[in-house]
Amino acid sequence: MDALDAKYPFFATAREAVAEAAVSLPELVAADAPAVERARERVERALLDGTVESESGAFPAESAYDTQAELLSYPISRILVSLLDSAPAIEKYAAAEAATAVDRIRADLATDDELRSLSTPTVGLDDVLAEFDLADAVRPEATGPATGDTPAAASSADRDPAHYWIAVGPYLRLTSPSWGPSWRLVNRALADGEVRVSREELLDALEAAVEERVREGLPFELAAGEGIAAELESGVEDLKRLLSERTYTGPIDVVAPDLFPPCMTNLIEKAERDVDLTPPESFALMAFLVGIGMTPDEVVAFCADTSLDAEGIRYQTEYLKDDRGTQYPPPTCQTLSNYGICHNEEDHMQVAADPLAYYEKRVADAGEVDDWREKNGIAADGETA
Ligand code: SF4
Repeated sequence: MDALDAKYPFFATAREAVAEAAVSLPELVAADAPAVERARERVERALLDGTVESESGAFPAESAYDTQAELLSYPISRILVSLLDSAPAIEKYAAAEAATAVDRIRADLATDDELRSLSTPTVGLDDVLAEFDLADAVRPEATGPATGDTPAAASSADRDPAHYWIAVGPYLRLTSPSWGPSWRLVNRALADGEVRVSREELLDALEAAVEERVREGLPFELAAGEGIAAELESGVEDLKRLLSERTYTGPIDVVAPDLFPPCMTNLIEKAERDVDLTPPESFALMAFLVGIGMTPDEVVAFCADTSLDAEGIRYQTEYLKDDRGTQYPPPTCQTLSNYGICHNEEDHMQVAADPLAYYEKRVADAGEVDDWREKNGIAADGETA
């Protein structure tokens, strides 16, 4: 087990390293080893901050955790997140693992050769592509030396090309047109079955690949109250309590459908056409409606003429909201974009990071706002007043 395995614990070699180390996760958990504490931190940071980097600093140079704790915290985190028994928690966790991994890959690629060979364990782009079976699907764009380039500049351009060509199949699998118009195939240079992407865009596609890998197999089926699940019970309870203490401080109790962001309006219109929403779509809509201050009964009344049924709404909204506020922060624009829910109309992802923040701005700009509940005489229990 080496530092590279710990940096990229979802790589096949890291999984082998864990298997070969023949460590017993139940025993580690029973002994409350550092890997367990790091796993709790990993999940907490993923759900609350969107990163799995330790608060003590980046691994390996600054982190308080050693290689073994860092690596073994990954399988324990996967068990913890499974025990949270929440689909949104798994999504957020996978997204945070992927975001952190890509930050690390970006830093590795920026590490110069001299340092790389000295001490820092780093991956190269070829390693990452091979890990995701993309070695034959991605090639750097050939760049001849520009006139006047020094030999050093020409060699650096060869090593770190600004553009790559990716086979159209993997491109379509790993990217989404909902990331913005520039991702649509019609707006791309396409030749001989390959699509041209910038280096940063290639990293976006790799982030999607990591997210897919992390999400695979989650949640684990674990019998509650037995074995490792029982040992981790207090950690899981701590995480649930932390999440429930997380309150959203957004627009307070104003329901103005005319000011809803387009993603939410589109979902409502889709449901009004009696089309079923996918689970991520209905979760996003419920999280938004709860986030703007609606009670479960008000949400049921608001969605009365849609494909959403009252029982499903009640289940989701009550689960989302406790006495102190929303249990899970609503998905960000980036997450909604990954699900194809956001079409980034008029590029307003530039304006806010999530639909609630966008709505908050629109409400603030609108000044006087009529509340849908008052206009329709809807009381907090959903009854017509
Ligand atoms: S950018 Fe955000 S607020 Fe706007 S449509 Fe997309 S998800 Fe909704």
